[in-house]
Amino acid sequence: MSRILSLRDVHRTYGEPPVAACAGISLDIDRGEFVAVVGPSGSGKSTLLNLIGTLDRPSSGRVEIDGLDVAGLTDPELSAVRARRIGFVFQQFHLSDGMTAIDNVADGLLYLGVPRAERRRRAEAALRRVGLERRLRHRPHQLSGGERQRVAIARAVVGDPPLLLADEPTGNLDSVSGASIVELLHELHEQGTTVVVITHDNDLAAELPRRVAIRDGRIVADSAH
Ligand code: ADP
Repeated sequence: MSRILSLRDVHRTYGEPPVAACAGISLDIDRGEFVAVVGPSGSGKSTLLNLIGTLDRPSSGRVEIDGLDVAGLTDPELSAVRARRIGFVFQQFHLSDGMTAIDNVADGLLYLGVPRAERRRRAEAALRRVGLERRLRHRPHQLSGGERQRVAIARAVVGDPPLLLADEPTGNLDSVSGASIVELLHELHEQGTTVVVITHDNDLAAELPRRVAIRDGRIVADSAH
């Protein structure tokens, strides 16, 4: 099946009085796509990413990942979906500072029950894939921002998930490091990963094959349509 993600009339409201962070979103993404979700601060981008990433459930509407209806899954089943099918990259890197790059990345395989030696072997390969073969034993504080984000990306892809979700991946980086991270995402996409990037960086978005613009929790433009 080529569709990796399908949202149908998805709503997500918060609080009382209710705020509709997601106000009726329908969106289909096929395997192999590279999509930017753009919109101003507060437009609902992170809410959408959390719904796509099964970190949150919709108030109403349907979310399907890889043909699986999220509503029908228990929390442990959702954890398994995340571990096997989705890699996450965040603006703040979210690395453990007391651990080397290789251990940070190897942790991305803990949930999959991969034995320790194999975890480290695959972590090393993932770090090589992002160009950090010479930083395996560095700790995050010994690395530049761009290198930290590379470690985080290696951790996200070490289990070979079909879908990579990135929330403002260049938001904490200078323009040169940011550009190299975008280039790395392009490489991963060319190698077959479906990539969805949330950004308010119009330059980054302009380089991607598909842009979905959201405002006030609704899609206001989709370059695929
Ligand atoms: P963006 O990522 O585009 O900045 P968000 O998805 O974070 O937008 O937020 C969309 C709207 O939903 C905002 O008005 C925000 O204040 C509201 N919102 C997001 N998360 C929560 C929450 N946990 N509780 C209450 N309101 C929230």
